[in-house]
Amino acid sequence: MTQSAHDTARTPAEAGAEPVSGALAITAPTAIDVDVAIVGAGPAGLSLAAALGDAGLSVQLVERQDRAGLADPAPDGREIALTHRGADMLRRLGIWARFPESEIAPLRQAQVVNGHSAFALRFDPGGSGKSELGYLVSNNVIRKAAFEAALDRPRVSLIDGVAVSEVHTGEAGGTLRLADGRTVTARLVVAADSRFSETRRRMGIGADMLDFGRVVIVCRVAHTAVHDGTAHECFLYGGTLAILPLNGQCVSAVITVPADQAGALMAMPPAEFAALVRDRFGARLGDMTLVGERHAYPLVAVYAHRFTARRFALLGDAAVGMHPVTAHGFNFGLYGVDALTRAIAAARRSGADIGSARVLDAYQSEHRRVTLPTYLGTNALVKLFTDDRAPARLLRGAVLRVADRLAPVKAGITRQLTGVLRAS
Ligand SMILES: Cc1cc2nc3c(=O)[nH]c(=O)nc-3n(C[C@H](O)[C@H](O)[C@H](O)COP(=O)(O)OP(=O)(O)OC[C@H]3O[C@@H](n4cnc5c(N)ncnc54)[C@H](O)[C@@H]3O)c2cc1C
Repeated sequence: MTQSAHDTARTPAEAGAEPVSGALAITAPTAIDVDVAIVGAGPAGLSLAAALGDAGLSVQLVERQDRAGLADPAPDGREIALTHRGADMLRRLGIWARFPESEIAPLRQAQVVNGHSAFALRFDPGGSGKSELGYLVSNNVIRKAAFEAALDRPRVSLIDGVAVSEVHTGEAGGTLRLADGRTVTARLVVAADSRFSETRRRMGIGADMLDFGRVVIVCRVAHTAVHDGTAHECFLYGGTLAILPLNGQCVSAVITVPADQAGALMAMPPAEFAALVRDRFGARLGDMTLVGERHAYPLVAVYAHRFTARRFALLGDAAVGMHPVTAHGFNFGLYGVDALTRAIAAARRSGADIGSARVLDAYQSEHRRVTLPTYLGTNALVKLFTDDRAPARLLRGAVLRVADRLAPVKAGITRQLTGVLRAS
């Protein structure tokens, strides 16, 4: 039996494709046309979608993870330290209001120690007009809230469970081809698809990558003593330990070790691992118990050679992938959202092209100026404070003491940590 054309035709929803008009049931891949197409619905891509939705633009997000994983992401061990500027951005986007109160932990002070020294370089929010340096919120809580906020904007839509496999941009706009054959056309394409961005590579944009040869292991640890909201960065010899205060008698332990030691630490029985954290921290928080899983991340810093190309911009880690020690990765993602949205919204208000070189240049120059000094400074700091040779040990101690005595240096670091005064 021969099937009629009518029998073989499916609705676009069934086929994921749009029927071409006419009697024959030839189908063509669905084409979607929007103002801005964003590759990657991580926290940076979702925040940009929300901001552009508020500016009245139509936005298509494309994400390879499926919707269920985005709507309720599993804990990934990352406790994100947010600066005041980052937190303000999240408030404006309606993301902050979606955080349960119990998930926002104030960061009251920070201190940095070198090796076994009793001296600590201390930072507090004094003089900033704030009562805390910043806040800690789990990455999965941020991702869930950003997902809900972005998709609440009527002009923002999401294609999930499919990767972008090709990208082209031209005079008038850009085109994404998806792995399932669909295409998305837009006036501007933004890639927020992680520090190892495939889209960046496809657009011919290179990046400086600094592989530290180290792995960071993160987990939550409950403890018997009470903490006072202080974050501790301990540059020990042989590895670093950061203790980040969460709500209740719980902290995030962040252990950085040479990559060849990470497997053994990940495989260690939980009680033994908790005892190791307790001992490395000098038992200052009493006995410790591991809560949940450990998560390991290889440490690679990335800085794209350019943040823009014709009708194309990089955002989030795809533009600047930071070493986490100075806690700036997502904050920089948010500052990028702010800079790019301002440039696009200004063009739109004046009836100009939202994907023009002028808009993209404004974004690139601001975002470079804000991020590059901290990127280079963070990498230099990591290099020095992971060098355990005798002269470096002396220099490490001296750097902390000098920073403590030079008020402008200390104030500058505090400003950078809190984001209270814009670096722009
Ligand atoms: C241990 C650790 C601690 C950290 N602590 C802090 C901190 O204290 N403060 C801070 O500000 N930052 C911190 N960060 C950094 C922060 O987590 C990142 O900057 C942030 O998550 C980056 O978000 P993003 O949206 O740019 O990228 P990602 O979160 O990497 O998201 C990229 C998205 O793109 C999708 N994708 C990739 N390729 C494709 C494709 N081809 N097609 C479709 N979709 C694609 C991925 O599935 C993913 O969902 C930390 C990071 C680590 C590892």
